[in-house]
Amino acid sequence: MSSLNKICLHWTAGANYPCQVDLNAYHYCIDELGRIYPGTHKPEDNLNCYDGNYAAHCGGGNTGCIGISVCGMAGFNLSAKQTKYPLNQKQIETMCCLTAYLSIKYGFSISEKSVFTHYEFDKKKTKPEGKIDITYLPYLPNLQIEKIGAYLRNKAEWYGIKIKSNNYKFEKKGNYYEFTCNF
Ligand SMILES: [Zn+2]
Repeated sequence: MSSLNKICLHWTAGANYPCQVDLNAYHYCIDELGRIYPGTHKPEDNLNCYDGNYAAHCGGGNTGCIGISVCGMAGFNLSAKQTKYPLNQKQIETMCCLTAYLSIKYGFSISEKSVFTHYEFDKKKTKPEGKIDITYLPYLPNLQIEKIGAYLRNKAEWYGIKIKSNNYKFEKKGNYYEFTCNF
């Protein structure tokens, strides 16, 4: 019996709002206001990736893997480090909160094996494709590439504690979802 037990964290390399291609590729896309748009495919579609009906977000690792993407970083590369569509902190906080929410919903704990950036996943492949999401946080320009995965996992752990104490609620608001805080 397969299960959803992993989350791969991405950026879209597009604008700060999801386009149809983004919605087809990821289960959740997060815009610049921290609004969460469900993609074309449900996470459950990735239980079986042999039927062509799944979100193809993480080549070589799509089965059982939920794809979350923050919208932005079009044109970014590691040498120039510039983009017209930088990610902001609200998007990253929302991504970490959603990661925690989904790990609780689907019953897995957060570790390097279960929650990773696309960059971290790609680096471990026999033939890496050179993925760079997520290697740069514009609001923390000095955070080293190799520390970003751990930074995001730590944040998600923190949100997990808050969600379990009912401090954050996942709410539908029209065509998107938002976390509302009850502090
Ligand atoms: Zn990616």
